[in-house]
Amino acid sequence: MEKYNFDEIVTHLKTTGYVYQGSEIYGGLSNSWDFGILGSFLKKNIKDLWWREFIERSPYNVGIDSAIMMNTKTWEASGHLKGFADAMVDCKECKGRFRADQLIENATGLSAEGKSFEEMDKMIEDNHVVCPTCGKHNFTGARAFNLMFKTYIGTLEDAKSVVYLRPETAQGIFVNFNNVARTSRKKIPFGIGQIGKSFRNEITPGNFIFRVREFEQMELEFFCKPGTDLDWYKYWVDYCYNFVKKLGINEEKLRIRPHDPEELAFYSKGTSDIEYAFPFTDWGEVWGIADRTDYDLGRHSEVSGKELNYLDPETNEKYIPYCVEPSVGVERLFLMICCDAYEKQKLEGDDERVVMHLHPAIAPVKACILPLSKKLGEGAQKVFEDLSKEFHCEYDEAGSIGKRYRRNDAIGTPFCITYDFDSENDNSVTVRHRDTMEQERVEIAKLKDYIKERIAF
Ligand SMILES: [Zn+2]
Repeated sequence: MEKYNFDEIVTHLKTTGYVYQGSEIYGGLSNSWDFGILGSFLKKNIKDLWWREFIERSPYNVGIDSAIMMNTKTWEASGHLKGFADAMVDCKECKGRFRADQLIENATGLSAEGKSFEEMDKMIEDNHVVCPTCGKHNFTGARAFNLMFKTYIGTLEDAKSVVYLRPETAQGIFVNFNNVARTSRKKIPFGIGQIGKSFRNEITPGNFIFRVREFEQMELEFFCKPGTDLDWYKYWVDYCYNFVKKLGINEEKLRIRPHDPEELAFYSKGTSDIEYAFPFTDWGEVWGIADRTDYDLGRHSEVSGKELNYLDPETNEKYIPYCVEPSVGVERLFLMICCDAYEKQKLEGDDERVVMHLHPAIAPVKACILPLSKKLGEGAQKVFEDLSKEFHCEYDEAGSIGKRYRRNDAIGTPFCITYDFDSENDNSVTVRHRDTMEQERVEIAKLKDYIKERIAF
């Protein structure tokens, strides 16, 4: 399997309208990206598919949409106020800010993992580590830097009005546990899912949209009886892996990596990552599935003073449910899908084409209607209008048929539908398939069902 140059894929996504640089006319904003005319569709289709597969089609799960700004007590309970921090140093000369462990590792090759702030300061001194930006050796001491974005609610910028932009969507689910249990009348086991924006002031974002400061998460918190949690954990690892596999991702580039016991958070009984062989690294995390035991509900019970329990209606047993959390970032899934779909193919002669082999269910444009000649516009428009009631279609009458095919291959349109002079008489069109380039004649009356069948997930 060919691994393409990452820059080549990024350039392709930028030039076709999948992703734009954020605030580009002002010189951009560090690590900020906008999803363009195609990317907005792909992103929406990914989210819709997740919602359908994880919420609508699941006999267990329900969905919510909670607020981005939450009572600050939430972050005290979740541990984000204390623990969600990296050791940072500032360069006093150029004011550059760096993660201390990375600075040391890059300069010396020594690992600073698990070292205290004082030990890291000493390593920087002893090895005379210099600033990667200005080359000087004049750093502040290492200290914690919280990754949450802070802002103020109301007109007073004082300590009482501080709020944070949520660094994960999960906490909005935990604090609503009682509300959902009451209003859904679900019995354990059940899950609560949501899709939404999260924010982390990452010090070293990068690799295009792989690690960004503003991102969207699709998280499910699945609550079950203690003792059944490891079975559910396995269930959700398989469920997520199958979702990715069904999208057509090359399995040679996929793996499930269970965390070593020393990697696990102290409350977790098991965590696995679904990883993909991105072009810029060996393996990159895409989806995390964690058995979080009763940690989250337990902490929120403790800090809020409200009982977040479940009363088993059959046994009359009261307990704090255990929780299994499959969590994935939309941008990462998007990037994996695009990296995996991209192919540059040699054709006959010197000809070549770029194809995006996107699963038709998530392709931004399902079909492009191409009149062979502008004179055929009326009939072709009718086909376009009819299909557009069901799917997102495009209409393209500019340029040669060959060029129009190439353009659609490059953006991942699964079907090109050519309306030609025969169509006027036989009420049929030629459907050309993106991946095989094969063509077949299909009756216009049967076209809608023909496409529907082939874009199903
Ligand atoms: Zn510097």
